[in-house]
Amino acid sequence: MVAFANAFCGGPFYHRRMSEVLEQEAQAGAEHARKYTRNNPYHSNVNVNYLLTAEGSEKETRHVELSLEDGMTYTPGDAVGIIPENRIAAVEDVLKALGYKGDERVLDHYKVEISLEEALRTRLGIGKLSRGSVGQFAKLAPEVEGLKVLTGPDNRARAEEYCWGREFVDLATDFPGIITDPQQLFHVLQRLTPRMYSISSSQKVHPDSVHTTVRVIRYEAHGRDRQGVASGHIGDRADEGTQMPIFLHSNNNFRLPEDSSAPVIMIGPGTGIAPFRAFLEERQADGAKGPNWLFFGEQRSKLDFLYQQQLEGMVKDGTLTHLHTAFSRDQHNKVYVQDRIQENAKEVFEWLERGAYFYVCGDATRMAKDVENALLDAIAKGSNGTLEHAAEYLAAMKKQKRYQRDVY
Ligand SMILES: Cc1cc2nc3c(=O)[nH]c(=O)nc-3n(C[C@H](O)[C@H](O)[C@H](O)COP(=O)(O)OP(=O)(O)OC[C@H]3O[C@@H](n4cnc5c(N)ncnc54)[C@H](O)[C@@H]3O)c2cc1C
Repeated sequence: MVAFANAFCGGPFYHRRMSEVLEQEAQAGAEHARKYTRNNPYHSNVNVNYLLTAEGSEKETRHVELSLEDGMTYTPGDAVGIIPENRIAAVEDVLKALGYKGDERVLDHYKVEISLEEALRTRLGIGKLSRGSVGQFAKLAPEVEGLKVLTGPDNRARAEEYCWGREFVDLATDFPGIITDPQQLFHVLQRLTPRMYSISSSQKVHPDSVHTTVRVIRYEAHGRDRQGVASGHIGDRADEGTQMPIFLHSNNNFRLPEDSSAPVIMIGPGTGIAPFRAFLEERQADGAKGPNWLFFGEQRSKLDFLYQQQLEGMVKDGTLTHLHTAFSRDQHNKVYVQDRIQENAKEVFEWLERGAYFYVCGDATRMAKDVENALLDAIAKGSNGTLEHAAEYLAAMKKQKRYQRDVY
């Protein structure tokens, strides 16, 4: 995500990142011209969809297995794109707020005529509200004071505050009568976009399917029950036997070492575990000689230990050399994966000196930064050096592709 954001936003790494992206696409094209894409998805069967977290957990994390057609291939580190539909109840709420029945005809982004109900269910993003949508909506009624104060550069913060926890239905309810033609919705709302999920399986073990590990987002805001569009779809409307439009997305910036004897350290709290289940299954299937060390974290060991049996089995059969867990709510003092890295700083540094690859997956907002600080600390301590020296050491690791992150 971060790599792609940099690639397309003209950030400092723009040129390098952009060439990497193009190179990746060229490679993917050369290997096997992808038949299925976000615009032409594969209609996969949901073979398996079960809850990984136990009853009583504050999280709702699911294991999902999706069927693949012959010739669809992926590598650990890749992601699967899921094309969701908005839930019917949310569509009905929008129709009610706008005073439409749903059978009105509109032209979609490709000028194909469909019903308004279908457009709201499958084409338009009616979930979390964006400032852009508020701005477009306000243009339809420049005289409305309540909307004026939510637009323009001076009102950014106020608009952000209004959008937080709100969806389009709230805007349409707060400012009724502004949409006078259903076609206007295509200017106001963004497209309903696919969501990416890290692949949590190795195709060497599961040749005909792709697995993912999805945290279902549910919350209450401004008096309504909300859910994430795609994760809610997976949580409520993707029973085994139903179909799900998907496509595979390769990510050459998150790959196991070519040398299978190299040590691997993986930091994957929460759904960040996903690509590491894939890495470990792959290393197990390959009989790779390199040692593997996994740090996993969640809230409570009894409720939230994702893939516990499989991981403990991997400790027993020697696939996992070390498994360190951090369950923040199991004791009075909160403990996180970065604390476990600090506790094991000496050995972490020894592994790095032996050429270990260090991977991080999961939350970008806090975890990734905290883990990087713990890693820098471990390097500084291990090398009796300063933090500046540790930063140079880490920069060299990055250059050698021995520090890879997939954070979102
Ligand atoms: C490369 C990549 C890999 C990923 N891998 C995984 C993975 O393995 N597993 C996984 O679960 N996810 C993964 N994600 C995230 C995933 O793509 C989706 O972003 C996530 O599932 C949310 O999508 P959604 O459609 O369910 O929610 P959306 O409809 O997009 O809504 C999510 C938004 O809801 C809002 N929100 C959430 N909680 C609250 C609250 N309490 N109060 C107010 N607002 C709130 C926030 O604005 C949040 O951004 C990955 C993302 C990327 C880019």
